[in-house]
Amino acid sequence: MRIRVVYGVHPSRCFGLSLGIDPILPPKRCIYDCIYCPTGRTISKDSTPQILVTPDRVIDELGKYIDVNGCIFSNIMIWGSGDPLLNYYTPLIASRIRDFIGERGCSVSITVRTTGYMLSEEWARQILPYVDRVLIPLDAGVDLRRTLNDPLKGYTLMKLVKILREIPRQYKRMIWYEINLLRTTTFTNASLYNIDELLSAITTSGITKIYVKTVDRPGKQTNIKPVRGKQIMRIIEKLENEGLKVVFCRKPSIENILIADNSDEAIINHLLRKPLSSDEIKQLYGLEGLRTVERLVAGNVLRKITWSNRVFFIAGGGLIQYMG
Ligand code: SF4
Repeated sequence: MRIRVVYGVHPSRCFGLSLGIDPILPPKRCIYDCIYCPTGRTISKDSTPQILVTPDRVIDELGKYIDVNGCIFSNIMIWGSGDPLLNYYTPLIASRIRDFIGERGCSVSITVRTTGYMLSEEWARQILPYVDRVLIPLDAGVDLRRTLNDPLKGYTLMKLVKILREIPRQYKRMIWYEINLLRTTTFTNASLYNIDELLSAITTSGITKIYVKTVDRPGKQTNIKPVRGKQIMRIIEKLENEGLKVVFCRKPSIENILIADNSDEAIINHLLRKPLSSDEIKQLYGLEGLRTVERLVAGNVLRKITWSNRVFFIAGGGLIQYMG
């Protein structure tokens, strides 16, 4: 059993079937420690890039994935165990993926999801010509950032805004913010005050495109809950009234996709990056997949919880030991 770089496909609400590429690998390394992060707690809260997963390893695994499953995805999402731009190789990985999917005849987009701070550095900006989108989480204004994203000291909203302002104009149009709305019993980031704070940062940064969604699975904290549709629509209207392009990411209408590789290793690698509901397991990995996750729960490798009236399977503490 080994940890893979390539996982999924995952049914993304914003991009359809997305194949995940994790250029960091556990332990999770990020500048943030978001309460909704599907990969759990940040183990190494760090802003120092390192040499981690190599482009050769990504291309080798991607080739094997396509050999077994075909190009069943419409997007490649470069994201996994933290901020992808904490690996110096990630721009090169994106460029090699771009060439490789072209050679294999796969017509797919490439998205990278990053905190955005590394884009102040020339080596990291080299990723921009090779991706279709850069996705930057922006969930909390000044007041809520500590509670929601818990950034490394000094990584302020103003610092991010300044970095994004300086991105060359031809690349700025590829940058999208992602607002992930949620509530707990004590706060919500869907308040008008928070949205006003976000709007001020958005307009100052010169970025004009936003994906809006609400949490749809448990994260590092399981007490997070989705925000109601009406409230989301009011927020979208407010953003659009400011002249911003807004896409509301809803539940994808995807038919059953049975991934050819439904081995323990494939399912566990997916769960290491995203908790999956029983419906999603069945949709993606079939009934055999459901039997697999129940067996792994019985063996204490996975945990099974009820969240927002659905049953989810999540990576338990025993998973990394199980992976060896
Ligand atoms: S959600 Fe993204 S930015 Fe937040 S902690 Fe997880 S990897 Fe980092």
